[in-house]
Amino acid sequence: MPSEAAQLSEHVLEVAAKKMSDRGDGNYYHRVSAISRCLRDMVLHAYAEPWSNEPQAKWGDTYRFNQGHDVEDRVIKGLQDAGVVVSCQQLKVQATSPMGKPISGHIDGIVLVPHHLPLGGKWFLMDVKSAGAFAYKTVLEKDQPKLDNMRQVSIYTQSIVNDDNYPEVKGIKVCDLEFDDYEFGGGMLCYFSLDRPVKGYGPSREDQPKMHFITFDVDPHEVEMYLDVFDEVDIHKREGTIPSIPSPSDEMVWGRQQKDGSYKAIRCNPRWCRRYDVCQGIEKPIQNEVRELLWER
Ligand code: SF4
Repeated sequence: MPSEAAQLSEHVLEVAAKKMSDRGDGNYYHRVSAISRCLRDMVLHAYAEPWSNEPQAKWGDTYRFNQGHDVEDRVIKGLQDAGVVVSCQQLKVQATSPMGKPISGHIDGIVLVPHHLPLGGKWFLMDVKSAGAFAYKTVLEKDQPKLDNMRQVSIYTQSIVNDDNYPEVKGIKVCDLEFDDYEFGGGMLCYFSLDRPVKGYGPSREDQPKMHFITFDVDPHEVEMYLDVFDEVDIHKREGTIPSIPSPSDEMVWGRQQKDGSYKAIRCNPRWCRRYDVCQGIEKPIQNEVRELLWER
């Protein structure tokens, strides 16, 4: 029997998890931030299939999401304290798919680096990402952004400003925005480690920087390809189909090579996928169309 104090913490986590489950992921619409999702999950969402796998209270997912928002605020504050202007925070933007469908998003901010600092005289479209130990170590060692993060920021740069709070720039492509004395430098990702970042083990262990910025150029042609996935969702919906389960090596299911050379789809797990049971045929879908497509064949 857990102690009363442990029971109290369980209760707090359960209330947070219940709130999250009640919200679910809402009605489907194309969002730039969905660029990292599994296509099959997106299509199930587009059919309005609800979650079949609720988050467990002990995971504290709500708190993890909120940590991300808190980190974003603190990093922006830190940049400003260091004399770096962060403009257009939470600016609403809209991308367009190759088939002409709107995809909405909002940016963390535009960073204008003063001329006396490294990267001085350039402005960047910035997104802040909080990262656990493994993800942070990977980006720090490779000095390269995660592919999904890079795609998301790249799409933002090619989107149109769609924000009534910024009427003077509404309708302008983000990368074409003009800031006196600053030229467009591309995308910027700011990774912030939630854990203590260290390198090595034992006595040779060294502390690593808590925060790491990576900048990159944006290729507009590549961005068009990234946006294809949103049209794929619409095509499946229109044609009454659901994409099959991706190969375990596919990056959209976090395919990771194992020691024996085979691949494992890390994301295909109730821990990470909220529609796992429906997708895998374990639970009967709620929506008629999905039931006909996945259950009654
Ligand atoms: S279980 Fe895997 S393939 Fe199925 S929807 Fe989830 S992430 Fe996609």
